[in-house]
Amino acid sequence: MTIELLIAPAATGKTATCIDQIRAAQKENPLAQVWVLVPNQQTAAQFRARLAESGGGMGVRIGFFHHFYQEILEENGRFVPVISQALSHRLIQETVREVSTSGDLTHYDAIKDKLGFFSVLKDSFAELRSALVSPEAFLDYTRGSTPARHELAILYERFLAHLGTLGWIDSEGQVWLAIEALENNSATASHVSLVVVDGFTAFTAAQRRFLKLLGQQADEMIITLTGEPESARMVHRRAQKVLQELDADLSPKIMTVNHPALLGTPILHMEKYVLNPEAVEECELQEPIMLEARSQSEEAREALRWIKQLHVRQSIPLNRCAIYTADLNTYQPLLRAAADEFGLNLRFSQRDPLSESPAILSVLNLLTLPLENYPTRTLLNALHSPYFQFGLENQDVENLEKVCRQAIIVTGKEQWDAAWKMLARKRQDYAEALDEERYRLDLTANVDLLALKQRLERFWDLFARIESPRSQARWVEWLETLLSNMSFYDLISTERDRAACSSLGEALRALVVSEKVVGEREVDYGQFITDLQSALNSVNLEEPTEARKNAVFIGKLVEARGSRYQAVALLGFSEGLFPIVENPDPFLDEDLRKDLGLEPRLKREQASTFYQAFTRANTHLLITRPYLSEDGEAWEPSPYWQAAKALFTGQAIIKIQSFEGRPQAEAASPQELLFWGVQQRQLIYAEDDELQQRWQNLANAHRILDARRAKHAEGVYEGDLFEQASSLAQRYSAGHSWSASRLEAYGNCPYLFFVNSALNLEISKPLEPGLDPAQVGSLYHRILELVYSESMINHTDPLEILDSVAARVFESAPEMFGFRPSALWEVEKSQRLEKLRKSLQALEAERGAWQPIAFEKKFGIQGTPHLELKLSGGKIRLHGVIDRVDRNPNGEIRVIDYKTGSSHLGRPDLQKGLRLQLPIYGMAAQDALQLGEVVDGFYWKINDACASSLQLSNFESEHGKGIEKAYQVTKDYISKYVARIQEGSFMPEPHNTVCPSYCPASQWCWRYRAGYKNE
Ligand code: SF4
Repeated sequence: MTIELLIAPAATGKTATCIDQIRAAQKENPLAQVWVLVPNQQTAAQFRARLAESGGGMGVRIGFFHHFYQEILEENGRFVPVISQALSHRLIQETVREVSTSGDLTHYDAIKDKLGFFSVLKDSFAELRSALVSPEAFLDYTRGSTPARHELAILYERFLAHLGTLGWIDSEGQVWLAIEALENNSATASHVSLVVVDGFTAFTAAQRRFLKLLGQQADEMIITLTGEPESARMVHRRAQKVLQELDADLSPKIMTVNHPALLGTPILHMEKYVLNPEAVEECELQEPIMLEARSQSEEAREALRWIKQLHVRQSIPLNRCAIYTADLNTYQPLLRAAADEFGLNLRFSQRDPLSESPAILSVLNLLTLPLENYPTRTLLNALHSPYFQFGLENQDVENLEKVCRQAIIVTGKEQWDAAWKMLARKRQDYAEALDEERYRLDLTANVDLLALKQRLERFWDLFARIESPRSQARWVEWLETLLSNMSFYDLISTERDRAACSSLGEALRALVVSEKVVGEREVDYGQFITDLQSALNSVNLEEPTEARKNAVFIGKLVEARGSRYQAVALLGFSEGLFPIVENPDPFLDEDLRKDLGLEPRLKREQASTFYQAFTRANTHLLITRPYLSEDGEAWEPSPYWQAAKALFTGQAIIKIQSFEGRPQAEAASPQELLFWGVQQRQLIYAEDDELQQRWQNLANAHRILDARRAKHAEGVYEGDLFEQASSLAQRYSAGHSWSASRLEAYGNCPYLFFVNSALNLEISKPLEPGLDPAQVGSLYHRILELVYSESMINHTDPLEILDSVAARVFESAPEMFGFRPSALWEVEKSQRLEKLRKSLQALEAERGAWQPIAFEKKFGIQGTPHLELKLSGGKIRLHGVIDRVDRNPNGEIRVIDYKTGSSHLGRPDLQKGLRLQLPIYGMAAQDALQLGEVVDGFYWKINDACASSLQLSNFESEHGKGIEKAYQVTKDYISKYVARIQEGSFMPEPHNTVCPSYCPASQWCWRYRAGYKNE
């Protein structure tokens, strides 16, 4: 029947007084029932521990407000289930949909489907409930007001009506029922001897009403509040306000304690003087309590390093340490990354959304595949996922990837269907690179396409019947069957994933139950997935039990209340981070808040939050801030940082500018120790074997990096494989048959040759619809070959038969060259035909007396003779395909090679050894194929409709002019390249100033030079 309010500064013994009261009550009546209300888990655990230390807690119930609401209801014989987060979210979603359908939503109609809108409504409804605002009162208040306010009131009223239909209650609504129960039955809590309310910094209107009724029925109630009666200090302003509210509602007897605060010296000094307008004494410190780091990431590392030092050197348990920050969203991943490295357990007050769990993300990615028309990359990722079993082996998935690349499947099941047919009929002439313009690897050569197609059918079957709309319950049933068919639940192995699965179950249940409330409604697959995503976003992931053991607590500054720690670090004391920038609430504006008794959003007492936060530390405190912003600009300190700084002299602040001079004993992880060791060029803890081994590895890495940074590539880390020379000499011996393109690759960059030809690595480009450059090259070559061969046989003008030949080739092209015609294929055909016509006209105009006599002439292939060159290093054999051979009336020969690209076809390219194909083909026509004396040769640039500036007849070099000089230069290069390849010399040194975009090493090569233009 008596309510006491115990108000006193932090750490002065308020909780101890409460425990004394409990002891006294139990002494008087050993069976006395005591209720202790606390704000959070940490406070509950600490209260329990202190109670146990003082002699035991028999008969004492410690819990949160909602535990006691439940208790009151049960005392009155009422059991009202509380809805889950997911169901609450779903009900709000359905309420919005219903109000919109009934035409009552105009102001918010544009955002009615946004996930953020549902979250805002959830918070707004909770605030209105906590302020004891009834739906009728809210509707009355908003009648005649703005549409925004009135629509909010309608949504609030409908949401509560749905809750009533369901017969469940939301967590904020529980207090309403508890208040009703206490009002209706004045003996409900009369058996309670003592109620202790400890660790709160504020109470909602509903909580005050509940406490008043409870206090009237229990024998005694004691409420603690951190602050000072009559204090004018900023840091106590919130306490003054709460004091006034409690005084008005509960009329408690105000008491205080006069014990000195049990805090470490700097914390006590801050407690007394920070933000105190009166004269302040400075306190000299030998140990820093404030730390400035370059970035928020370093700040997080420094805070955890400080905690680890206290843990290791002073044996402070990790669960007696805490970190608070106003901006937990930013610091959470930074702290998590540093803690993983430092080997520390963290426990966050803010849990991750379920939708970010890897298992749930995989499910969502899979389910959205049909909605996005099965984009190939996402589809392959799903097939690779360890969370599903599609009946495909790893090799199957790799083969499917090859099918995608070979048939260029970008998206959609239709492309897959067409691809299987096309690949079954494809024709592949060349198994090796003869001409980089036309070369395409046959990726599916050894794949059993029919069997693979059948195995993939199981995947398509999963989504075979999603076209028909159905109720949420039926969709959930479908999803459960799908997941179980793919062994999703059986493949779950970690505690984190198990927790995610159980939360997934909660979200699915919410979808089913919400339908019972708002009525069954059939929705299509897209709507079901949207609703599911929304439900998953509203559920948070439980932290695994293992992670919670002996862990540092990480919370928001506003959550710093009640519990106490030996060491506390406060992060983010720079301008804009804390105090946080306050913005008005666009949904519940300030006037409405004032009128309905809700907490204001502006002018919140952030100084009081600061006071609460730093006084959570008993002995060790560290306040940190970043001094540089992300763009490297100076970041101003927070006014609270300045206020704290003004209180201390001596070594109070440390600024971390560089790790170079830091004692290695301060390193918090082996990685960090080694990193500092490298910077300082010595490792102090060299006697540790494992560290010594890692130090040696770093020394090796250092040598490699030095080699890679050198101006010229040389040595074993830079492509010098001299140790493999004997096996290379064997592989590339006199019996080896070379193609011009392989030799040219070596000329362009030895390492490119090594990666591409010796290691057989290929560049993997993103899949794009349409023809790739090799297919375009093949198409042009085929048309030109047929036009000239048929015109030669039939004695017709090549230009006259171009259209009919092209039409035939275009018709069979998809099958022959392995591509799927896109929607633009018809347009593309006419554009390509026009290009060919112009090219053919120019080619005919320059022909003069030359007559084409051979096309696609192979040498060194399919039984045709090789070109054999006797060079200084021995005999070299070459093979290839000559696009066209012409003869003049004198019986002389010229060779022509068609190119779709137009760059690197000049005389200098042969002089530098980058283009060797033409002279090789000239020598092959003359010596290997015995077609006659070759007097000329050139590349024909199809797209540019002109010959290359490199012509064999007018070749010039410093050693002389003419075709023989071109041959000599070519032989010299071939001899040199082959010798170097056999020696194992593969330095990454591109001959041009830029690297070719087709180089497979371009994705990792440390000597890559960008800027190549692929024409
Ligand atoms: S990226 Fe450049 S330097 Fe490296 S291997 Fe390729 S071509 Fe050579």
